[in-house]
Amino acid sequence: MAGKSTPMMEQYHALKREAGDCLLFYRMGDFFELFFDDARTAAGVLDIALTTRGEHGGEPVPMCGVPVHSAESYLARLIRAGCRVAIAEQVETPEEAKARARREGSPVSKALVRRDIVRFVTAGTLTEEALLEPRRANLLVAICDVRGKAGIAAIDISTGRMVLEDCDPARLGAAIARLGPSEVVIPEDWPADWGEPPAGAIERARSDFASDGGERRLKDIHGVATLDGFGAFSRAMLAAAGGLIAYLDHAGRGRLPLLLPPVVRAGEAALAMDEATRASLEIVRSQQGGREGSLLAAIDRCATGAGARQLAEDLSAPLTDAAGIEARLALVGWFHADPVLRAELREVLRALPDIGRALGRIVAGRGSPRDLGQVRDGLAEARRIRDHLQARPDRPALLDALLPHLGGHGALVDLLQRALVPAPPTERQNGGFIAEGYDAGLDELRQTSGNARRAIAAMESRYREETGIAALKIRHNGVLGYFIEVPSKHADALMAPDSGFTHRQTMAGAVRFNSLGLHEEAARIAEAGGHALAAEEAHFEELTSAVAERRETIAETAAALARLDVAAGNAERAAEGDWCRPAIVEDRCLEIAGGRHPVVEAALARTGERFVANDCRLGDDDRLWLIGGPNMGGKSTFLRQSALIVLLAQAGCFVPAASARIGLVDRLFSRVGASDNLARGRSTFMVEMVETAAILAQASERSFVILDEVGRGTSTYDGLALAWAVVEAVHETLRCRCLFATHYHELSRLAETCEALSLHHVRAREWKGELVLLHELARGPADRSYGLAVARLAGVPEAVVARARAVLERLEKGRAETGGLAAGLGDLPLFAAATAVEEERVDSLRETLAALDVDALSPREALDTLYRLKQEAGSTKP
Ligand code: ADP
Repeated sequence: MAGKSTPMMEQYHALKREAGDCLLFYRMGDFFELFFDDARTAAGVLDIALTTRGEHGGEPVPMCGVPVHSAESYLARLIRAGCRVAIAEQVETPEEAKARARREGSPVSKALVRRDIVRFVTAGTLTEEALLEPRRANLLVAICDVRGKAGIAAIDISTGRMVLEDCDPARLGAAIARLGPSEVVIPEDWPADWGEPPAGAIERARSDFASDGGERRLKDIHGVATLDGFGAFSRAMLAAAGGLIAYLDHAGRGRLPLLLPPVVRAGEAALAMDEATRASLEIVRSQQGGREGSLLAAIDRCATGAGARQLAEDLSAPLTDAAGIEARLALVGWFHADPVLRAELREVLRALPDIGRALGRIVAGRGSPRDLGQVRDGLAEARRIRDHLQARPDRPALLDALLPHLGGHGALVDLLQRALVPAPPTERQNGGFIAEGYDAGLDELRQTSGNARRAIAAMESRYREETGIAALKIRHNGVLGYFIEVPSKHADALMAPDSGFTHRQTMAGAVRFNSLGLHEEAARIAEAGGHALAAEEAHFEELTSAVAERRETIAETAAALARLDVAAGNAERAAEGDWCRPAIVEDRCLEIAGGRHPVVEAALARTGERFVANDCRLGDDDRLWLIGGPNMGGKSTFLRQSALIVLLAQAGCFVPAASARIGLVDRLFSRVGASDNLARGRSTFMVEMVETAAILAQASERSFVILDEVGRGTSTYDGLALAWAVVEAVHETLRCRCLFATHYHELSRLAETCEALSLHHVRAREWKGELVLLHELARGPADRSYGLAVARLAGVPEAVVARARAVLERLEKGRAETGGLAAGLGDLPLFAAATAVEEERVDSLRETLAALDVDALSPREALDTLYRLKQEAGSTKP
């Protein structure tokens, strides 16, 4: 890479232009090299040395490289860091390059090996086992606008599942949040009135997103004259599919991955949740962004990666039809009732290979003999599972629907079993994966080379005898092939012209020879070996296409196994935590007895603490619960656990409760007041209000809403006023089921006017000046907020707490005199809470005194106690 325009440099720049904003992996021998800015980026992400090579425009060219044999792990890290990579391979050997130069009449010594980009590696187009997380789906999504409507095409190319849907442009954010894609592709002219395009989206030419083009591609790929058999697809869906396939074409350089027939996602079939709700409920990832701490992590007991991926999908899109939910629950119930059967099945599933992903690699042309072996073993096992389950009585309907998909691959399994060795290798260059007895010709070739090897061994002892050199050896290396080696001191005898040996190489201490006989046997081995490899390669192609031909039915088997795994895993989780099967009903109730929060409960269990179960009882005449009580008292936990129980139930899971009756919910909303969302560049209060507005616009009578401290992000008067108005609107207009946590005592007065609203609080006690949080929900308004006690619990210095107490006294006195914050809202002034507080404090003094064992105090302790009591008493006086 010296000078300005070496041929290599020109080739590099041409490839780099093609690679665009992808990092270019430029193959040089055993390394992929990166240059210029690519090298700087990669060296930073990978933490590898940045060197230089030659110069360009008088400047040294920055360079770094990764070894080809371990490129996958480096790729994984680059992809995780948000990079995309173009792989430029050598597409001819140096010999071929020289021959070409000779033909073209250019200098042979400078012949440059031709290179091409063979593939783009991007987050959404991975199939390699090493680059994928086994328990997470990996979605590539294309979004496109057609006459103001949005179409979405989503595919997990590791398994080939493709889903198309229409989407209201206003709900795009929610749809993307539901899908959680690794990569998004959009047309370059994203409609301006749709707001910002999805973060990190890749822009492609508008012409890629043509609906008729998309339709034609789908028909070609699946060999059908019409798509009607797959479903009814809108123009927007087909345009999105077109954009998706064009991008796959681009990334795979014309080689398409596994694409199963597209299916239409029915929007109404899923419980609707927007982005904010998903984030606040921490369904498949926690607020920190990881899986840990999420609902998914707390309930996932799946034995297979495919099961875990299906569970994540179930939780992301719970159902809204009672029949579908009941079908899943019945299967979970069946496994729940039979722990032995469940354990057996899970044991078998744990050993099952990921056939969906193996199939994906095979169809994408990146399959290995091992992948074929995985398909063979997985399908064989699926059939055994079918036979085992089919023999059971009282099978639920969903199981009977799944079982037929587990079989039907007899001929293919048989073929693979005959053709492959028991544990085929991941590399196919060296052969050795086709079993003996499958191909007589191949066996013969193997025998020939085996015989020749034996002949060479015999030749060695014969030569030793003939020459009388006991140290003579026949050896093999990669450069010379087979050769005869003797120590130097014996070499002369073999050097003689009539010895029958020809000299090949003199080493320090040894000399190497050839002989006619050895040459012949070696040629036989090489020829037979070459033919054997070619034969194995041909069989690999046949077997691969035999598998690819049945891709749809194999994918169905994989899906059925995943569904079984989810059900058995859910049953396992339920048994572990003593969870119950929820009753799904049509009336608008939400009756949970002994409800628990699965994530908080698990976190507490780790430190040996007990979770306090609580009941929730919403119905038509008691739709809205207003929940007060101290900070840290458990309000948020109660709100979220109620929402999670609804979500779990509609996803077809058992729920963490003693019993649950759940009236179907169409939309679920969860909002936390003034949650920090600075990343989106809005003030926290603005976010709170935008989210509240969305609920007020979208919730229906069938919805379930949890609102946590709404109105907290602004001044007291504004906040109270807004919270008041929101509660009234939820009660009067939306008429949905709602849990509303608040620290505004003043809202209690709404109970006087709203007939379907009731007051509740989380209980707390102050004992000997210490706050005790009971995490127990009780009827009635909260008496006070215990803010100062919480501050003290949190370690705020005593002097500050004492000062705050003095300020509070003043404020409360003022409130008692003027009627307080909500004085203008009705005729009745609020309770003068200050007097209550004062009484409490006197009580606590009395309690402390009563608890003192005067005789046991040292004079010093007595004095300290006296000072403390005096201070506490003093702080109640303004
Ligand atoms: P709030 O919303 O009232 O401020 P949280 O719901 O955030 O309170 O709860 C604070 C902490 O209290 C939780 O992190 C948890 O450790 C504990 N907690 C909440 N609910 C319970 C419960 N039912 N049983 C036991 N501990 C609980």
